Amino acid sequence: MTVTPSRLGAHAPLARRGLEGAAPIAGDADAAFGQRTPRAAPGYASPIADAGGPLLAIDGVSLEYRSRERIVRATHDVSFDVYGSDRFVLLGPSGCGKSTLLKAIAGFIEPVGGTIALDGQRVRGPGPDRVVVFQEFDQLPPWKTVVENVAFPLRVARKLPRAEAKARALHYLDKVGLAPFADAYPHTLSGGMKQRVAIARALAMQPRVLLMDEPFAALDALTRRKMQEELLRLWDDERFTLLFVTHSIEEALVVGNRILLLSAHPGRVRAELNSHAWSHASLDDEGFRANVARIHGLLFETEMNAEANAEANREERINAEAHA
Ligand code: ADP
Ligand code: MG
Repeated sequence: MTVTPSRLGAHAPLARRGLEGAAPIAGDADAAFGQRTPRAAPGYASPIADAGGPLLAIDGVSLEYRSRERIVRATHDVSFDVYGSDRFVLLGPSGCGKSTLLKAIAGFIEPVGGTIALDGQRVRGPGPDRVVVFQEFDQLPPWKTVVENVAFPLRVARKLPRAEAKARALHYLDKVGLAPFADAYPHTLSGGMKQRVAIARALAMQPRVLLMDEPFAALDALTRRKMQEELLRLWDDERFTLLFVTHSIEEALVVGNRILLLSAHPGRVRAELNSHAWSHASLDDEGFRANVARIHGLLFETEMNAEANAEANREERINAEAHA
């Protein structure tokens, strides 16, 4: 049986079960996404390896912006689970509510429906266990040096003594290759370097989940690729849990081990895919290009098409069962 993108789309609501083995449909998605060769870097942590429940559980989350004039629904009934050491990617077109979801997980916005739980505890506000790296280069206070930028939240939120905070800040700056710039001010750094500082600052906090909202989207293509590679290297070192937002299909496939596809405004779950097979080395592969096209189809498939495909899939399944 060939697995079509529409099949993945039609099965999307089931994909949230998360555990590959437990969800036959996610298994289908695997088949569609082919090659199970591990990435070149040393292994990845499978969600199954985490015997406990999900680290982050998003359950039926609807998010809205309300003003006196109108209500904007940003996401509708979104569910997914993130397991320890996942590199979980939220992928969807601009305006589908990715940033809003990340803000809700960070605790800045309260869902109008559904729940967000971290380690089984309902998220009720911001906390140092969730740190966000944004797209903007101006997320570093310009009056603090690089090392002060990284150390400051450690002192405030993690209550580390000054010397300890500085030592940890330098350790993480070294990890992103910026130790020589510890005493520089942000305005003297390139966009890529500023993002590295923001990443070092976030990792130094040792959050339960690192949230990244299109962190490389404003960088030039070469720097962007370099940053993706560095992020994956850091992940290999530290095995942090990452929730990464992007609207780039290629970036999602390269950075993520699992991808949640969200439909256009308001964001709804379209499908959940495994993507650990792909890396920068795959970028020119025919299989990689085919998957990009497939995901593109899934993202921009109209609701009408989706229903027609769901019907076709039902028939196909009934036929298959009849032949079994
Ligand atoms: P994405 O990050 O996927 O591009 P957003 O989460 O930024 O999408 O936005 C989702 C929807 O919510 C969009 O329709 C956007 O216009 C709307 N929106 C975002 N921020 C606000 C806001 N502060 N007030 C009202 N509507 C907003
Ligand atoms: Mg956004």
